[in-house]
Amino acid sequence: MTLFDVYSLYPIEPVRGEGTYVFTEEGKRYLDFYGGHAVISIGHAHPHYVKKISDQVARIGFYSNSVENPLQQELADKLGRLSGLDDYQLFLVSSGAEANENALKLASFRTGRSRIIAFRGAFHGRTSAAVNATDNEAIKAPINRNYPITFLELDDLAAVREELDKGDVAAVIIEGIQGIGGIHVPEAAFLEALPELCHDNGALLILDEVQSGYGRSGKFFAFQHSEVRPDIITVAKGMGNGFPIGGVLIAPELEPKSGMLGTTFGGSHLACAAGIAVLDVIEQENLLENTRTQGNYLMETLEASGLFTEVRGHGLMIGLQMNGPIGELRKRLLFEHHVFTGSAKDPNTIRLLPPLNVCREECDRMIEAFQQALNPEEVSLR
Ligand code: PMP
Repeated sequence: MTLFDVYSLYPIEPVRGEGTYVFTEEGKRYLDFYGGHAVISIGHAHPHYVKKISDQVARIGFYSNSVENPLQQELADKLGRLSGLDDYQLFLVSSGAEANENALKLASFRTGRSRIIAFRGAFHGRTSAAVNATDNEAIKAPINRNYPITFLELDDLAAVREELDKGDVAAVIIEGIQGIGGIHVPEAAFLEALPELCHDNGALLILDEVQSGYGRSGKFFAFQHSEVRPDIITVAKGMGNGFPIGGVLIAPELEPKSGMLGTTFGGSHLACAAGIAVLDVIEQENLLENTRTQGNYLMETLEASGLFTEVRGHGLMIGLQMNGPIGELRKRLLFEHHVFTGSAKDPNTIRLLPPLNVCREECDRMIEAFQQALNPEEVSLR
């Protein structure tokens, strides 16, 4: 059977990972400033994570959600404590799209409405409702007429107000920091105005923290850089450090009816063990602080380098804007300097999404790789 061709692939085959590095069979080492697309939160093959998962799978990896599984509560308690959102309810799923699909379903169930407001450049996943709320025509095969979508410019409060005024909007869905669109941080005043504006008009606010959450921005959730209390928050990616796990955090005011949400794999013993291990490491190794420290260092140094027209982001979610397409530069970084970076929908933006335990020396290697890839005759930027 041939594989369905989902992405165009680079001819590199990582067979092992350790911390911020991945290795090929021949022992070639690559610095991972893409984090497997913001998924690798605590580094590749972290010993605590490996042990937790190995021990769990040797005990019991899965039983259906028709029986008690105390690991789910342990995960929820830890997540509530570390995020400061202990009063929310957690529904466990297996991916970001599944989390958003359920968030949109909850919103439409709760409001009795179906229209969704999303933003230009948004990415919320590839399932039917989530892809409809994604601003990318290229991936929109299934047209979901159940959720009519209106796309507005990020930070355009007047436009949001005008749409909400029509009285038929179920939810506004927004990324804590827009990822695939090219690392765009919503203005704090914009985010902070949304809950009241939504509630006054009978709509809900969904924060998609699938890429920006779990410490990536230097706070547990990116929206926590502002004063905002969303009705629903969705998480995935960094939550499992590679194990497929996601979650929908539901504010208590929503009073979701039991029985309306469900999934076979969500919250399995093994998924919970992975999720708990990630939170253990984030807490024990103070990764939020490291994210802020390394993130600030990277952003300040890259900004001062003058290599980019703009440096955007928070923590270790960084967008580097250039004057032209970044495709060739990313290839050079990968093949000549052995550094993984991420692209964005915007062809002129590079995304940096390294593991949250990246160290200063690895940041320096990254900066040097940029310098050499762009100005090979100069030796060092520092
Ligand atoms: N939301 C955001 C903000 C994302 O970046 C992504 C994935 N890139 C998704 C949702 C979808 O997540 P998944 O691929 O796990 O379905």
